[in-house]
Amino acid sequence: MTSAASVRVIAPGGTIGILGGGQLGRMTTLAAARLGYRTHVFCQRADEPGAQIASARTLAPFTDEAALAAFAAAVDVVTFEFENIPVETLIALAKRTPVRPSPTVLAISQDRLVEKEFLAGSGFLTAPFAEVEDDAQLAAADARIGRPSILKTSRHGYDGKGQVRLALGDDAGAAWRTLGRAPAVLEGFVRFSTEASVIVARGLDGKTVAFDVTENRHEGGILRESRVPAQLLPALMAEAQELASRIAITLDLTGLLAVELFVNRDGGLLVNELAPRPHNSGHWTIDAAATSQFEQLVRAICGLPLGSAARTADARMLNLLGEEAQDWRSHLADPGARLHLYGKDEARPGRKMGHVTWVSPLPKG
Ligand code: AMP
Repeated sequence: MTSAASVRVIAPGGTIGILGGGQLGRMTTLAAARLGYRTHVFCQRADEPGAQIASARTLAPFTDEAALAAFAAAVDVVTFEFENIPVETLIALAKRTPVRPSPTVLAISQDRLVEKEFLAGSGFLTAPFAEVEDDAQLAAADARIGRPSILKTSRHGYDGKGQVRLALGDDAGAAWRTLGRAPAVLEGFVRFSTEASVIVARGLDGKTVAFDVTENRHEGGILRESRVPAQLLPALMAEAQELASRIAITLDLTGLLAVELFVNRDGGLLVNELAPRPHNSGHWTIDAAATSQFEQLVRAICGLPLGSAARTADARMLNLLGEEAQDWRSHLADPGARLHLYGKDEARPGRKMGHVTWVSPLPKG
């Protein structure tokens, strides 16, 4: 007899549908292939990093109903590798095939205001925030939050795009105009001591497994470098992992959740952002964890047992942005470096072209 739970399991040999053609889908495809799965990437261009190596691809807008129906019929489960996908796309797919994480999780995480309201409403601490949809709300938010603050568009922001910092004396109205007066959130500026993240997986059976806390350094809003172990007290790191697991459970998530955190000067944790997908700060897991974040995602959404998240080495991951990826020869010549390139041909400034991970013993620097 087949139990209801086993029906939902997608055994190796199955096909994972991935919405989005970026490097996160590419690395998921590599992990899926190792476990005997095929992937089918739904994106816009055949030369996108994930589409280049998938077993199959659909090149169509996310609103193309016929393409979505054919895609759903061709895959056993659907996941997504970025958040800027219409929720309606996921809802349409979910009528035909399992979608993990769910459309509800996407709806929460793709809008900063909805996400912050979800977190605050569930008792998780964030920076003070206020909604900005018109001039009166902007003035009220500015008065309540004070300066310094950060004005962020609610949607479509990534890698520091769609954000303006407001110092004392800055004109809030002018700042909002630079964001096209799009619906926004005004956040209090957090004087954090450390930025950290936790990636947690939650399986179909509801079990959670968290990776070690990663310490992150950003430049201009873009992740530059991640390190494990983070230089934080063990009790605080355990608290961060526990916090991430509780958020995943509250979301009723199946898949991966990255929780970006600020560590306050007094040692308190504030949630900055959620990403229900593999995360740049978890790339070290490919080279320095028993199971990578990408394999863990495959396991979670296919209903397999989650793997061990045990760290096998200390690690430092450096993003290769823009032209930096052209330095691949020096990284290949470095015996301690593990080079990962995403197959992108246009090296625009700040664009994530690849990354390098050093595992212990780590070089100085
Ligand atoms: P985000 O896109 O919200 O992750 O922001 C990108 C980066 O900007 C973060 O990783 C921080 O370095 C910085 N940042 C964002 N929000 C705040 C805040 N409320 N206070 C201080 N720094 C922030």
